[in-house]
Amino acid sequence: MSADVRRALGPFGVAQAEREAQTTDCVMCSHRVEPGQGVNVQVVRDPLGNLNVWFTHPGCGPSRLVDGTKTLAPDPDGEDMRMTALPPRTGHGLPILAAQLVRPVFTKPEEQGGELTEVLAPYLLSQGFSMLGELDSTPPHLEQWIAVLIAHPAPDAGTARLLILDPEASQFFSGVVCTPGGWCREALARGGAALYVGDAGLDPTSPHVHQQHERLARAARQGRLLAATISVIER
Ligand SMILES: [Zn+2]
Repeated sequence: MSADVRRALGPFGVAQAEREAQTTDCVMCSHRVEPGQGVNVQVVRDPLGNLNVWFTHPGCGPSRLVDGTKTLAPDPDGEDMRMTALPPRTGHGLPILAAQLVRPVFTKPEEQGGELTEVLAPYLLSQGFSMLGELDSTPPHLEQWIAVLIAHPAPDAGTARLLILDPEASQFFSGVVCTPGGWCREALARGGAALYVGDAGLDPTSPHVHQQHERLARAARQGRLLAATISVIER
C-alpha cells in the first residue's frame, strides 16, 4: 500500500482494506487474489472526498491514490456481477442464488474516519436485505424483488437465462447462469429462491456443490453476505 493510499484511508481504513484484501478479485483481470500473493490497493477520490477502493494483483496495477475519475478499469466482459446457482441446503430448503461483484468496490464517506463500505451494501440494506450470520435461517421475503427465468429450458439443460429486477424494475442482474439439475423446476415450484449478495469466492461453473455450500456458509458466518428471499417466476 503506497503512502498516499495509507494517508487517504487512515489507520482504520488501512486495517479494513487489509482484511478485505484476503478475499477479493483483482479489479484489472477479475481473477482471484490468492492469499500470500500480495495485493495492491488503489484508491480513487471523487470531488466530494468519497473514496472508492479497488484491489489489484501486484503485476496488474500499482498502489496509488487517484483524484477525480471512477473509471480505473473497464470490465472486459461488460458484466459486473457473477451469479452462482446452488441447490438447497438444509435449513430453509430454498434454491440458492449467490451474487458477487466481479470488481468489488468499497466506498468511504470521508477522508479520515468512517468505515469502508461495500458499494452495494447500503442500497441492499435499505431494500430490506439482512445479514444473517448463518446460511440456514430463512432470509426476509422481499416480494417485489423478482427473478425471471427467461425461456425456461429443459429441467436438466444446465444453464438458464436469468433476470433479477428490484422494485423499481431496474436490473440487478441479467445473464446466463449455470443451474444444477432440477434447480429451475425447484425454484418455480417454491416460487422463490434465497439470494445472497457478497464475496464468498464462489465459482459459478463449479460442480462441487458441497464445497460451494461450505464457502457460502463461511462467508455468512464472517458477516460478508446480505440475504433476501426473492420471488421466482417464469416468462
Ligand atoms: Zn490481476
